[in-house]
Amino acid sequence: MRRIYLDHAATTPTHPEVVKAMLPYFTDVFGNPSSIYSYGQEAKGAIEEARTKVAELIGARSEEIIFTSGGTEADNHALKGVAYANERNGNHIITTAIEHHAVLEACKFLEGRGFIITYLPVDEYGLVDPQDVKKAITDKTILISVMHASNEVGTIEPISEIGKIAKEAEVYFHTDAVQTVGHIPLNVDDLSVDLLSISGHKFYGPKGIGALYVRKGVKLASLMHGGGQERRRRAGTENVPGIVGLGRAAEIASHEMSKEAERLACLRDKLIKGLEEKIDNIRLNGHPRKRLPNNVDISVDFIEGEAMLLNLDLEGICASTGSACSSASLEPSHVLLALGVPPEQAHGSLRFTLGRENTEEDVERVLEALPRIVAKLRAMSPFLKSIK
Ligand SMILES: *Cc1c(COP(=O)(O)O)cnc(C)c1O
Repeated sequence: MRRIYLDHAATTPTHPEVVKAMLPYFTDVFGNPSSIYSYGQEAKGAIEEARTKVAELIGARSEEIIFTSGGTEADNHALKGVAYANERNGNHIITTAIEHHAVLEACKFLEGRGFIITYLPVDEYGLVDPQDVKKAITDKTILISVMHASNEVGTIEPISEIGKIAKEAEVYFHTDAVQTVGHIPLNVDDLSVDLLSISGHKFYGPKGIGALYVRKGVKLASLMHGGGQERRRRAGTENVPGIVGLGRAAEIASHEMSKEAERLACLRDKLIKGLEEKIDNIRLNGHPRKRLPNNVDISVDFIEGEAMLLNLDLEGICASTGSACSSASLEPSHVLLALGVPPEQAHGSLRFTLGRENTEEDVERVLEALPRIVAKLRAMSPFLKSIK
């Protein structure tokens, strides 16, 4: 049975070209980039080439890119780095209720150290209202952090509008763009962002590497102290193969993403339409139009997301419940609750995120399997019996 992978928001397979680009940096070119002999300088050169490619993908200058260990570190660096370096100017940070845990937990940490965090609500589609951002700004606000697109429901936020508000108020603006970089074209100037998080493994690069874009002039404290790497902003010997892989992934994305986004949006719409036709009592979570080209997030009434997931897995289809809840707790997703999805519907959520290997045939397999699985589970559902 051919397995169908439909969880690209969780991670993507590393592109074969990316692996190929990385390999020499494990073997032939193993030097420390800080060493001045040629081995080191070759590695250093490769890092700077990758930095240029990442910068080009987002319309930045190469000196504005800091390599990190991934999206989580980029988010932590943005939030804590701005908080620590600017606390004399204020202690207020604005974010949203639907952020990734890398942002929310960093905010919680800062709350324990005297910072005040405003968590903005979202509407039923997961959209943040820029006017809410404007109203929340005080003379103590030092940072606004709003994700570019939701990893869970796929909604794309009005970042450039919020960016204009932040610029006018002279408040730093960070966006977690882990789900959009390499997937849809974007530009840091058009978005008016000062900081932007990137993760390699979300767009066919390797795991354990990412980047933080930091606009020239932004005051940012370091989280890692040690050597002078990354212009003293992030100490530690560089992950050279990872950085080279990230650069190659950025280069491939810059050539392919526009066309690929169009192709995936067609598959996405076919999947949504088919599921709505074949299954009663389901709802699409997230915005119907302002959404990632590869995201389908649904709630299916009367059954559990996990049960659907396990049954799909038996048929070789990998999806996600979309909820980033720890498997130990039965808390429904904070994102769906913020959208106002009732807890019982939030428990029945299922996320499919498409990627470059997926085809129309894969969508058809899901459209054949899921209605059958839902019918079977509903026949056994205690929720449904109690309603009848
Ligand atoms: C995956 C993800 C992260 C974390 O990135 P890692 O590289 O896995 O640490 C952060 N934010 C969003 C929106 C994500 O989807």
